[in-house]
Amino acid sequence: MNNIKKINKFKNKVWLASPTMHGEELQYVTEAYNTNWMSTVGANINEVERIACEKTGCHYAVALSSGTAALHMAVKLAGIKKGDKVFCSDMTFDATVNPVVYEGGEPIFIDTEYDTWNMDPVALEKGFEIYPEVRVVVLANLYGTPGKLDELKAICDKHGAVLVEDAAESLGAAYKGIQTGTFGDYNVISFNGNKIITGSSGGMLLTNDGEAAKKVKKWSTQAREAAPWYQHEEIGYNYRMSNVIAGVVRGQFPYLDEHIEGKKAIYERYKEGFKDLPVCMNPYDAKNSEPNFWLSCMLIEPEAMCKQVRGEQEYLYLSETGKSCPHEILDALTKVNAEGRPIWKPMHMQPLYRMNGFVTREGNGRANTNAYIEGGAVGKDGNPLDVGMDIFHRGLCLPSDIKMTEEEQEIIIEIVKACF
Ligand SMILES: *Cc1c(COP(=O)(O)O)cnc(C)c1O
Repeated sequence: MNNIKKINKFKNKVWLASPTMHGEELQYVTEAYNTNWMSTVGANINEVERIACEKTGCHYAVALSSGTAALHMAVKLAGIKKGDKVFCSDMTFDATVNPVVYEGGEPIFIDTEYDTWNMDPVALEKGFEIYPEVRVVVLANLYGTPGKLDELKAICDKHGAVLVEDAAESLGAAYKGIQTGTFGDYNVISFNGNKIITGSSGGMLLTNDGEAAKKVKKWSTQAREAAPWYQHEEIGYNYRMSNVIAGVVRGQFPYLDEHIEGKKAIYERYKEGFKDLPVCMNPYDAKNSEPNFWLSCMLIEPEAMCKQVRGEQEYLYLSETGKSCPHEILDALTKVNAEGRPIWKPMHMQPLYRMNGFVTREGNGRANTNAYIEGGAVGKDGNPLDVGMDIFHRGLCLPSDIKMTEEEQEIIIEIVKACF
């Protein structure tokens, strides 16, 4: 409590996740400048592709302008055609899903499980019962925590589905000793400014399929044929990574493990700090997985939730002693110049995707309208039927920037505690 009194506001904003630079980035960018490789060809690009393969164990990497571009290339490789239904993670950033629509596909959202906050294998299996024609699955590892990748992959294999793994948030995280970004047929990582390492922007497609990598290199550089003139047989894109951006990524890669350590320490400090509160941290399978702890999140116990309602763009809550809710905590953080964020709003709740299919562990989630009433439909196991909606309602992302000092984090912990 004394800590809170000491400050009204952090002088420097404490971010959710912002770029952390080390110096070498500038050296590689300067090298690109001095050698005039100021385009989408050059040593930095070759080098980051090599390092990404070395780090993840994937055979081929293609450096692209963003993770979203990489996802677009991945769903194109998966062969999605107009009207094809595609199973997608539901609680994720919309960049996981939009590329399916770029290709004319129709995302069908698979609900989330409570153990890792990722795609629920039970719901995925249900999905194949309801939509046996589906041949592509796009799954994300939320907040740097690997999902139940073995189970999910086995279900995909059983149904002959191509798997696209969106590891944009989970670079450096491992499941059963294997790096995320290698479980899919086609995999994606991102170097956006808020990710665990950054190029300011950028992304990559990872695959063990050499032919696929070749195709992406071609498509991402306007799909030129091997003719003396501009000859085109296929649609092309301008998606290749710049050699300048690649310089930043190249300078960041050696610090990936250090960043993960910093993120993990932040997660552990929150966990310890909140041990007497009616909350838990975003969970992971401690036996089988090593998250990269990109974002620390908390989930408030149902009994400790004060009343909170959300419209499409606004919210209201009623403060209550001993209880709190995400927006009360987020408002308290904003007041001291710290940045939190609600949990990524599930795709099946987004106006954009409200008409798309949604599958819970008990079947067609759209058929059960009660699933959308908070505190409404409960599954046979006694838990809310719509898991994504429940986590969105009770959870939030905490300031997780690795430049946040221990003192700053102490203060943030006190501020959260004071909300209850
Ligand atoms: C950031 C992110 C992306 C998109 O990556 P960009 O490089 O920003 O295009 C895709 N999926 C998830 C889950 C992300 O968090």
